Amino acid sequence: MKGVRFWGTRGSLPVSLTAPQLRERLVAALRGARGRDLASDAALAAYVDGLDFAVAGTFGGHTSCVEIETGEPGYVVCDLGSGVRPFGQAAFARHGPSAPQTYHVFVSHLHWDHIMGLPFFVPAYVPGNRIVVYGGHAELEAALRRQMEPPSFPVPFDIFKADFAFVRLAPGVRHEVAGMTVTTLLQRHAGDSYGYRFEKDGRTVVYTTDSEHTLGDAGAMQAFVDFFRGADLVVFDAMYSLADAISVKADWGHSSNVVGVELCQRAGAAHLVLFHHEPASGDAQIARLLDDTRRLEAITRAGAPLRVTAAYDGLDIAL
Ligand SMILES: [Zn+2]
Ligand SMILES: [Zn+2]
Repeated sequence: MKGVRFWGTRGSLPVSLTAPQLRERLVAALRGARGRDLASDAALAAYVDGLDFAVAGTFGGHTSCVEIETGEPGYVVCDLGSGVRPFGQAAFARHGPSAPQTYHVFVSHLHWDHIMGLPFFVPAYVPGNRIVVYGGHAELEAALRRQMEPPSFPVPFDIFKADFAFVRLAPGVRHEVAGMTVTTLLQRHAGDSYGYRFEKDGRTVVYTTDSEHTLGDAGAMQAFVDFFRGADLVVFDAMYSLADAISVKADWGHSSNVVGVELCQRAGAAHLVLFHHEPASGDAQIARLLDDTRRLEAITRAGAPLRVTAAYDGLDIAL
């Protein structure tokens, strides 16, 4: 496995920066520029590169779509959130209409934010492409077809020209897919969701989103520790802070940064990636959550350091 690329990292529904938010950032950036010598373009670029990510960047607003670069021909993505649209555009730009590709798509569950991008996935319209959709739900194909039925959508699923196949993966069984060993785990979430563990060439990536953890249930926690064991990268549903996750938002089906740190530390994972960001959170709030999580990791560390990153649309992590 060569790396992981994030095309959509937002939870629940897509969001975008607003004009007032953008204006606030420009004012902040210009305030910091007062009195500096920014006469050259190089000085300007260096100044912008030194700004906080929450001022000069953005975590982005597409819903879940994460690409795993396996180093083999064909593509592997997790979930079909709105982020699959830019992913499909990039793949189409690379190959054009005349070089058919295989796309392996692993679907965590059938909530709308995880499937809404499929109607806008350009490779699905290209004859010769092969799209294999894997999941744990019996209704996987029916749900993807249903979101393209009237009156919800103007064109039916059958307009796709690519060859589609649907494969149901039983949890706890090792499956060989796209040159990887893939294992799934049933997660606690309304209507069920599945986590994926991908292994290849001694590298392991875990994709676990829309999953609520019951801190008092030692057996359930241990199942996740085993699932994360020794992973190089864990993409983790950290939609909430722990305070929210155990109070007002208990039973909302999501987890927190604090639980992510605990599970990864116990599992000896190397890198925790906070994912499925709360749509109501601005960039500054997500950046604060990341800082808090890194501080927590440092003070609770018993073994090797756990690297912590907050995913953003466009982030590339090499393995
Ligand atoms: Zn979700
Ligand atoms: Zn969900």
